Amino acid sequence: MSVLGVYGIEHVSSILYYGLHTMQHRGQEGCGMVCVDADGNMKRHRGIGLVSEVFKEQHISAMDGKIGIGHVLYTGADARGVDNLQPLYFHHGSGDFALAHNGNVVNSKVLTDILERKGSLFHSHSDAELLAHLIKKDDPDEPRIFSIIEALKQMEGAFAFLIMTKNRLYACRDKYGFHPLSIGKIDDGYVVSSETCAFDTIGAEFVRDIAPGEIVTIDKKGIRSSFYSDDCRCKMCAMEYIYFARPDSDIEGCNVHAYRKESGRRLFHEAPADADIVVGVPDSSLSAAQGYSEASGMPYEMGLIKNKYVGRTFIQPSQSLREKGVRMKLSPVRSIVNGKRVVLVDDSIVRGTTSRRIVGMLREAGATEVHVRIASPTMTHPCFYGVDTSTLEELMLARMNIEDACKAIGADSLAFLSYEATLKSASGRSDMCLACFDGKYPTPLYEHIEDVNK
Ligand code: AMP
Ligand code: SF4
Repeated sequence: MSVLGVYGIEHVSSILYYGLHTMQHRGQEGCGMVCVDADGNMKRHRGIGLVSEVFKEQHISAMDGKIGIGHVLYTGADARGVDNLQPLYFHHGSGDFALAHNGNVVNSKVLTDILERKGSLFHSHSDAELLAHLIKKDDPDEPRIFSIIEALKQMEGAFAFLIMTKNRLYACRDKYGFHPLSIGKIDDGYVVSSETCAFDTIGAEFVRDIAPGEIVTIDKKGIRSSFYSDDCRCKMCAMEYIYFARPDSDIEGCNVHAYRKESGRRLFHEAPADADIVVGVPDSSLSAAQGYSEASGMPYEMGLIKNKYVGRTFIQPSQSLREKGVRMKLSPVRSIVNGKRVVLVDDSIVRGTTSRRIVGMLREAGATEVHVRIASPTMTHPCFYGVDTSTLEELMLARMNIEDACKAIGADSLAFLSYEATLKSASGRSDMCLACFDGKYPTPLYEHIEDVNK
């Protein structure tokens, strides 16, 4: 998922549209935006589908103003469906407000139960709605920031929230800093984004990252900062660097492409393979494959091609067509791999389906050997922080050792990057969340503990 907020910039709906577009890789389930018009009224448009499918010219022109927030919804995260589309938008005696969210609150069930016992009714399963209930103000004269701080103190887990009133934007990040959230500037206005790649597209200049536990308030007085906790840590999700973020984004001072390239270099030093060419799995593994190629001296080749136009609405081939070799997303380049010993670099193995499929394709296309190198450690634990990495039973490396996994995917050899190298590939970082690789969850897990101990 991802969030994008704009304060004090003309044509807010167009800026959100282009910005959300650049973050489409963070979610294809649905998207939405809420903008404040010149009279202080909030207008919203949301829908299931890609940004280009949901927003048409008339929606953008009907929502102009200078303050707005937008969201893209991630497949599999939270619950799906129209009720879970964001931003959410509430009418309240103390003023209307809208919310959007990235991440996953791990104690949401506990908090929802408490609120329901007190009479709250929920429309959705989204953490944004939970936050809305928690920040309801009892005293209309009390500044909203106090109720936001009190609400966030009760929440445990991964969250980046944007809260918008008709004249103010609040951007909050959980005290572990699981997912990125950065501030940019256009003239006298500000943007807040889950990824810095949005800044280049909309012409914003990077200002700074929002710190773990920080709540940034943006209004006509400029930017102010508060913290909801004095126990803040830096547990950035390693999968943001490994798979999730776009290569042109910088996360807490480290560029994502540079991270992946370095992880590829280290992967070669830790697990060299004797082969002829290096091939990366498009798109997320191309940087790591480049790094592996540079460190090894083996040429980097475009052995796989991705069809970029396979959208979610595309009719997938039937089983019989699949068996005939009709592949929608990836195709091997026969003239490149035929007769070659290939090092296949991928960023991660989750269920093992991708690796198994691609090893098979490369062999069919004539590769004489396929050595699989994964630019992350073995994924052995589920994630509860908003990244859909599957359940414990489905994780291939939770069920089998590396030797058996190598046989299962049909490779000649299989190796993974170490934890140390995964951490060190991000220059300057001394800590990250690696829980899906080592089971060391930075937070208590509440009811999710049952999903780890099966
Ligand atoms: P699998 O085929 O289940 O082993 O998944 C591994 C592939 O999915 C890799 O090629 C990754 O690039 C990609 N991947 C890794 N994490 C995720 C995620 N959270 N959601 C979707 N795809 C992912
Ligand atoms: Fe990221 Fe894995 Fe931690 Fe989840 S458990 S936040 S995917 S590193």
